[in-house]
Amino acid sequence: MKSTEYIIVGQGLAGTLISFELLKKGKSFIVFDEQKENTSSKICGGMYTPISGKRMTKSKGIDELLDLARNTYRELEKFLGIQILNEKNIYAVFGSVKEQNDLTLKLDNENFSKHINLQPQVQENIKQTFGAFEINGSGRVDVKKLLDAMKHKLEESNQYITEKFDYSLLENVDGKWKYKNIEASTIIFCEGVNATENPFFPNLPFRFCKGDVLTIKSEQLKTDRVIKKGIGILHLHDDIFKIGSTYEWNDLSEAPTEAGKNMLLKKLDELIDVPYTIIKHEAAVRPSSITREPFIKIHPEHKNMFMLNGLGTKGVMTGPWWVNQMMKNNN
Ligand SMILES: Cc1cc2nc3c(=O)[nH]c(=O)nc-3n(C[C@H](O)[C@H](O)[C@H](O)COP(=O)(O)OP(=O)(O)OC[C@H]3O[C@@H](n4cnc5c(N)ncnc54)[C@H](O)[C@@H]3O)c2cc1C
Repeated sequence: MKSTEYIIVGQGLAGTLISFELLKKGKSFIVFDEQKENTSSKICGGMYTPISGKRMTKSKGIDELLDLARNTYRELEKFLGIQILNEKNIYAVFGSVKEQNDLTLKLDNENFSKHINLQPQVQENIKQTFGAFEINGSGRVDVKKLLDAMKHKLEESNQYITEKFDYSLLENVDGKWKYKNIEASTIIFCEGVNATENPFFPNLPFRFCKGDVLTIKSEQLKTDRVIKKGIGILHLHDDIFKIGSTYEWNDLSEAPTEAGKNMLLKKLDELIDVPYTIIKHEAAVRPSSITREPFIKIHPEHKNMFMLNGLGTKGVMTGPWWVNQMMKNNN
């Protein structure tokens, strides 16, 4: 029997951030992940921004949240020896005069206007009848690279098991968790949308949201900026860009759909005036919650069984804060 302090089920963004906190605290743990292909963390754009939504709002406490997130990703870069944090302003294209006016009305608030540059350097090859502005303090995290590097690190120290966790084999013996030949004091579930299969936490307040994304190649789209108007154009490397994403609340099938692709292409054609070719089309379902807030759950009977989930559409930005809250009282 192998003894460890924690078992973590799921190594998406949530499981990765928890693993890092446990490593910093010197705790022993083992991660299980079944290596699902099309997970939210693997295909996401990884964007974060202080100003978001159709109404261009800045949520309360966002500066602190973003500081914590940036620091966490920088620490992860150092720890794993990789580069994942790209601090990039968003080049946001106005859709109408009304949008221009609505934004101008908000600029009296210094806490908001500090993020807005109304006179950015004009981006070529973008259709922008009503102009554009820049959102400072935004950026992107390469989540897939982060996941791969953490998996590799944990495999090196025999802390990683690539298999689907079978809930029916988990036993509670004298307050400890036994799973196959492993004994652990605490178990933390972070299975993203697969949490619906978890019998220990039924009826969770999820409201899943599927997203399609495209990867395109365009030799003439010369930019390393993030460009936004309905969709986002994220420069990945060389002439390769990620285009995303859709928000689909009804069709939650895991496969990419023609409808999703067509919606992205329509918006892309409205935004750029250079040719491109599609390289890849992917989709995944976001583990969003009804309240749009992530949640930390403690099992009502077993105080050593937890879940972190519901990271939803903004997991990159909010994940480090929620993990921080979860670990604060967990020594
Ligand atoms: C198209 C799209 C674009 C997005 N863009 C952004 C963005 O720009 N910015 C942003 O902040 N967020 C974005 N998101 C959201 C972000 O991806 C999520 O908030 C976050 O990645 C969720 O991470 P997670 O770890 O909770 O879940 P997941 O990524 O789903 O990870 C769950 C993991 O658990 C594993 N697993 C599940 N069940 C089991 C089991 N029984 N046994 C073993 N392993 C198991 C899976 O293999 C998986 O690796 C986007 C999402 C999508 C779909």
